[in-house]
Amino acid sequence: MNRAEIEEMLAELALQLERAERLSTEIVARDIRRFGFRCQRCGECCRGEENTVAVFPLEIRAIMGETGEGWLEAAEPPLEGEWDSGGNFHTLEWRLRKTGRDCRYFSEGGCRIYGRRPLLCETYPFYLDDGRLRWSECRGIGGEISSEEATKLAELLKRRQIFEIREAIELVRKYEEFERGEPSPFGRCIIHDSEGVHEIEWAEISGALGRRLRRSGGW
Ligand code: SF4
Repeated sequence: MNRAEIEEMLAELALQLERAERLSTEIVARDIRRFGFRCQRCGECCRGEENTVAVFPLEIRAIMGETGEGWLEAAEPPLEGEWDSGGNFHTLEWRLRKTGRDCRYFSEGGCRIYGRRPLLCETYPFYLDDGRLRWSECRGIGGEISSEEATKLAELLKRRQIFEIREAIELVRKYEEFERGEPSPFGRCIIHDSEGVHEIEWAEISGALGRRLRRSGGW
């Protein structure tokens, strides 16, 4: 990204933030009630290859405070990214760490970090797309929801949208551009987020994720 592209992106994010801050939670709550939702406690949103939870530095720190775990026990980098000319793999933001195909905090008894779960989990299956209510696949859609529950969910959705836009603004402000290059087994994994840059050695990315990332580099 060149300077002009960065400025353009920041201007667009500032407009999105303004709109999010002005958003009427009454309208969002009304829509939630219209579509309906009742969690079925099936745990399907916490399990499976396809389900990943985007998580931000503040949320990772809250989970670490709750569980006493280290950063890389709670979160992992996504597999999508690009290589720089020094053979380092660059990616954006974080995902909650998985054990096998499932979120590592899922248990048959429910979420093990329920009080500290990320905003994405708290608001699932709903999300706001520039103020418009959308939802992901979920068997709870259509269920009965009280107006108090819908209002609380609408407020959380607004808070989540503002939080995510602010995270994106900080990410763009701190993003360090790099020269593109070829995959290499000798580089590092570099994660760009709202705090700047986190660098990790391949050896720190354990298990299946490390293997998948190395495979994506072709070795
Ligand atoms: S943090 Fe909790 S609610 Fe979120 S995906 Fe993991 S187990 Fe499910």
